[in-house]
Amino acid sequence: MSDIICARDLVKRYGALTAVDGISFSVRAGECFGFLGPNGAGKTTTIRMITCVSPVTGGELTVDGMDVRREPRRIKGAIGVVPQENNLDPDLSVRQNLQVYGRYFDLPPRLVNERIGEALELFQLSHRQDDRIASLSSGMQRRLTIARGLINSPRILVLDEPTTGLDPQARHMVWQKLRQLRSQGVTMLLTTHYMEEAAHLCDRLVIIFQGKIIAEETPAALIDRFAGREVVEVHVGEAERRPLMERLDAMDGVTVEEVEDIIYVYVRAGDGIDAAALKLEASKVVYRRPNLEDVFLRLTGRGLQE
Ligand code: ATP
Repeated sequence: MSDIICARDLVKRYGALTAVDGISFSVRAGECFGFLGPNGAGKTTTIRMITCVSPVTGGELTVDGMDVRREPRRIKGAIGVVPQENNLDPDLSVRQNLQVYGRYFDLPPRLVNERIGEALELFQLSHRQDDRIASLSSGMQRRLTIARGLINSPRILVLDEPTTGLDPQARHMVWQKLRQLRSQGVTMLLTTHYMEEAAHLCDRLVIIFQGKIIAEETPAALIDRFAGREVVEVHVGEAERRPLMERLDAMDGVTVEEVEDIIYVYVRAGDGIDAAALKLEASKVVYRRPNLEDVFLRLTGRGLQE
């Protein structure tokens, strides 16, 4: 697979603040590539440079072979953008919002209308096409904002937190549609705070922390590397804590993290551990499969970042 978005030592500064601090990554054509990171990590700033709405301070950035410094207009014409905010025009109807957007791309009206029909159908909004934006639920507005990103029939779709604020039904519907687009060959780049979303959609992802990339892999490889095969959550009282920690320290292949009244034991190898080995009441021990959230919290910490 060839690379369709390439960043080398990319930097963005706002005055004295370095929001993006020399990151390098490549997105392959046809894949779904995710940006994960706590609030303020630099995800939106990176997206804004890729979509040519914010100039780069340093480094190289190309989109579909075009340099963001030299060909911003062509890049904007080639990509679909779903911003974090639903910036729809409240005075226009659903269809009119899409028509106005189509005009930005100088597309023939007949082609725009055809694509509007397809996009509304895909996101199940055809029956609301003549309604004003204010009468739509926030979930419908989000779906419309994603549909709008398809009007120029982009090869690359850039989505900033596509499902934030959606209920579970709408979120699953959007995931299904995004998977459908990817199966049609659309390259996707997305930011999300939902680890389940990242695991569901992303072929590969990076974790950004304080403007730097601190991990890059497939979701499964990240889980294997940073969280292991099993997570054991032990709820302990003060009296049990020290003897338990001593027993855990003596075990091979485990990494231990103490968070308030819970001890997380990440089991890296072997067949896991049982409650008897820990000499604990079974009711205080929860065994589960590790997930991306474990990876994220281990790498970026459990304290608030902003
Ligand atoms: P979130 O998950 O909250 O959306 P993010 O990872 O997208 O966070 P960014 O919005 O890229 O983070 O912000 C990165 C840093 O740059 C933050 O410290 C933010 O306050 C700062 N920042 C972003 N935009 C500007 C701006 N226009 N002017 C000054 N500072 C900015």
